[in-house]
Amino acid sequence: MGQNSWQRRRRSLKQTLRQEWQSLAIAPTVALLIIGLNGLGFLQGSEWAVVDQFFRWRSFPPLDDRIVVITVDDQDNTQIGHWPIPDEVLAEALLKIEAQRPRFVGLDLYRDLSVGSGQDRLESVFKSNPNLIGIEKRFGGQQVPPPKALAQLNQTGIADLIEDADGTVRRGLISARDDQTGQVYLSLSAVIALKYLESEGIQLEPIEGTSQLKLGRAHFSAFSGNDGAYVNADDSGYQILMNWQNLPSQFRTLSMTTVLKGEIPPNLLRDRIVLIGSTTESTHDFFWTPYTTSRINKLNRMPGVFIHANLISQILRAALDGQPFIQVMPDWVEQTWILLWSFIGWQVSRYGLQTNGFTQWLFYGKTILLTLGVGGGLVFISYLLFLGSLWIPIAAPLLGLTFSALVSIGLHNQKLQHLAYIDSLTQVANRRYFDQFLAERSHTVGDLSVILCDIDCFKTYNDTYGHQAGDDCLQQVATALRQAVRKSDLVCRYGGEEFAIILPYTDLTLAAQVAERVLSKVRSLNMVHINSLAQPYVTLSCGIAWVAISKQHLQSPDWSPVSLLAEADAALYQAKTSGRDRYVIRC
Ligand code: GH3
Ligand code: MG
Ligand code: MG
Repeated sequence: MGQNSWQRRRRSLKQTLRQEWQSLAIAPTVALLIIGLNGLGFLQGSEWAVVDQFFRWRSFPPLDDRIVVITVDDQDNTQIGHWPIPDEVLAEALLKIEAQRPRFVGLDLYRDLSVGSGQDRLESVFKSNPNLIGIEKRFGGQQVPPPKALAQLNQTGIADLIEDADGTVRRGLISARDDQTGQVYLSLSAVIALKYLESEGIQLEPIEGTSQLKLGRAHFSAFSGNDGAYVNADDSGYQILMNWQNLPSQFRTLSMTTVLKGEIPPNLLRDRIVLIGSTTESTHDFFWTPYTTSRINKLNRMPGVFIHANLISQILRAALDGQPFIQVMPDWVEQTWILLWSFIGWQVSRYGLQTNGFTQWLFYGKTILLTLGVGGGLVFISYLLFLGSLWIPIAAPLLGLTFSALVSIGLHNQKLQHLAYIDSLTQVANRRYFDQFLAERSHTVGDLSVILCDIDCFKTYNDTYGHQAGDDCLQQVATALRQAVRKSDLVCRYGGEEFAIILPYTDLTLAAQVAERVLSKVRSLNMVHINSLAQPYVTLSCGIAWVAISKQHLQSPDWSPVSLLAEADAALYQAKTSGRDRYVIRC
């Protein structure tokens, strides 16, 4: 007795553990799957989309007073009458700009060849202005050399920009290295920002014990190919994540025509950084940025000169005002973050599903609403962190949260279904499932056999050993039945101490073999039953019935498996009356 109740407890503990184990495994499994997907780069696009949105949500800092952009657009070109701007005209413009004594001038126009007349004049302007920086394009595709005079004076920077796989600029180039010559080239933005800061007495210094560089209040660490949402990005040279500052319309700008007419407002350029760049479509110096909401209109792209303005502004604000760069977390922190939100998703759904008193629909609706709410919370937290210049994955934990909740709901559903179809005491199918299964089988052409089994003298067993022992006996007999039948057969608890077995595609010979196995399996349990009329141990009596379902059966409106069960019942009765512990066949 004591041993029996211990066994029962052990069995139910095992069952609970099995169910709980499945539930406990949800969050880690989901997290692992998402970390895998993330590692393969499947979530890169979504993470970019979110961070782009964050840039658009973030309010713009006040206009950067240190920078003025002089734009050359189609109207200016019409006024000038020639594109590229002839040397003569460009020299004129530069002289007018220099007259206001800007701190540095970045000429973001390619000028490797002379245009029109005035070559000597432009060259002398180049040579006489040590604060003028020209550009060259050195990497990828078409290369454009720098203006000769400026190159000789070492007053150039590279104008190359880095685009992500989706064509958007999210990284700023500080320097790049030519693998063939080993020479390092600073970008236009870096040259101007560094020179500006140098004039303020701020210089780049290494931070001891780290790979970081210090520039005033700014701490630089180089972008690496797997930072943030990136997967195996090209991190050659020295790159940083762009901390976008302003739209073109939020910089001080001036048109080239205004400059040439000599109408620059007094002191507008004094002591400032002046960038000169083209904003005409034909120059192809346009790029997608996080500020691009729609890609249908090409005019949504940002001219290259404003990207340089953004990067210079970002570096100056960091070095002078202490505005941090965009930081990312180490991989293990990101992975823990994904795991944490997967756990939260799992917990949320458990909480939602456990509360009682709701209809089924409200049950799930509540869980889904809760998950959506928590998901919104995650986006909100991520956005707050982003405002603090920390970029953490958002799409991946959001996916972890949702997925864990969905799997948890699915598992819960499965559990409910299990409860609806399984007999709680014996863990075999219940009568409801039996009826469904039999109805399905009876609509299929082929052999179909049924075995009804009844425990012999079970009332006496209960009377002798008690009801608890009776329950235990039922459990053991059910397990024995499950083990004795084939995978395709269905064992069910038909009534109190009666079990039924459905044997699809099975004729009488085979059914008899199964019945024999069932009988001997129960006998071999060797459960003492001294008051049984059959044997001094627990035995079964079985009735077998068989039908070969034909097309005619299926077409006949009178055909139902009820008669098959009646046959089996009659056979069982015969087995009982002829001494028990045996099977009888009716066909
Ligand atoms: P026979 O050999 O003719 O089948 O005799 P029997 O005593 O097994 O048949 P009978 O139908 O008279 O008694 C069946 C008993 O099974 C009566 C009932 O108390 C017992 N029983 C039915 N369901 C349960 C159950 O869930 N647990 C226990 N312990 N006993 C049950
Ligand atoms: Mg019985
Ligand atoms: Mg009975």
